[in-house]
Amino acid sequence: MSVLETKNLSPKALSFYTGLIISFVNALIIAIVRPETGLYVSLIVFVLTFIVTYYVYYFTLQRFIYRKIKLIYKFIYQTKATKKEEFFYDNILPQKSMDEVSDDVEKWAIQRRNEIEILQANEQFRKEFLMNLAHELRTPIFSIQGYVDTLLGGALADPAVNTKFLNNASKSIDRLVRLVDDLDEISKLESGKIPIIQESFVIQDLVKDAYEEFSLMAKERNIQLSFKKGTERPLQVYADKQKIKQVLVNLVENGLKYGNEGGSITTGCYEIDDNSIYVEISDDGPGIAEEHLSRIFERFYRADRSRSRSIGGTGLGLAIVKHIIEAHGQTVNVRSKPGVGSSFGFTLEKEKKV
Ligand code: ADP
Repeated sequence: MSVLETKNLSPKALSFYTGLIISFVNALIIAIVRPETGLYVSLIVFVLTFIVTYYVYYFTLQRFIYRKIKLIYKFIYQTKATKKEEFFYDNILPQKSMDEVSDDVEKWAIQRRNEIEILQANEQFRKEFLMNLAHELRTPIFSIQGYVDTLLGGALADPAVNTKFLNNASKSIDRLVRLVDDLDEISKLESGKIPIIQESFVIQDLVKDAYEEFSLMAKERNIQLSFKKGTERPLQVYADKQKIKQVLVNLVENGLKYGNEGGSITTGCYEIDDNSIYVEISDDGPGIAEEHLSRIFERFYRADRSRSRSIGGTGLGLAIVKHIIEAHGQTVNVRSKPGVGSSFGFTLEKEKKV
């Protein structure tokens, strides 16, 4: 491709070639019309026309076109020009060809489109969250309202039902309190207000603490809490003890809530490599159908709506687990098969050797 055919001409090159053509034509006309003046005059005309055309053309381009482009650049960057940008406008921008400028603008447009898509997705997420939240609040509030109205309507004087109704209202209040606590926890985690404070500890000790907290519930449901054989060797991890306890509590509680009566919950702690430990909490409960697995960590997502609600779940437990693990820069996963059971696993940083 010849130089003139290329589309990527900078103003300098454009002025150069225009000057060259005009001065050549000028010199040619002089040579043809007044051959007596000789080649010497044609040469001078050529040089003078070239210089004048080149500068006039260059100046016009700079002034009329580049000023406009500069405005576009200023507009798309939307900021008052910094020193760096001024340097760009004065020195780099004038060297750019129209194609490069159009590429820049196109890139800018793509970037904006992506930003808009993210904003729209966030907006959708916010709407769904509010809808879910209203729904979650409505159920216990309506229930409390129902019991209180019935009691005020006369049931208060009926000893056969009054205590029962008050107990039921109290359960709904407990549920509201749990929901608010979980929401508080998740919003604090999201805002990054509570920092991750890491320390070294033995992960099995923390699992034992979590088991201890649920010993009564496990007894009631006749569910065995144990460690996977061969993974009892104490493993030191480096993490936020308080928050990992919360993770273990949420996962063990789920295993107990959803697990079958007479079943078992087993925790395995494995050393993956020199840097990571893998903790997995498994149950032999009803399991989760495959279509739910990818969404199970979303806020308010439930595989079995009515079961989760009747058990008293807020639908936020796994979302909190995911938040905590990701705030540690680690990952969480789930494996499950309906009728066989579920395993929730997460990685942790291995204790640093000093
Ligand atoms: P919830 O408060 O409803 O338990 P979670 O976020 O803890 O909320 O869990 C989300 C959903 O995942 C639950 O509603 C339940 O359907 C499913 N789930 C969680 N853990 C288990 C498990 N161990 N076995 C079966 N289903 C589970």
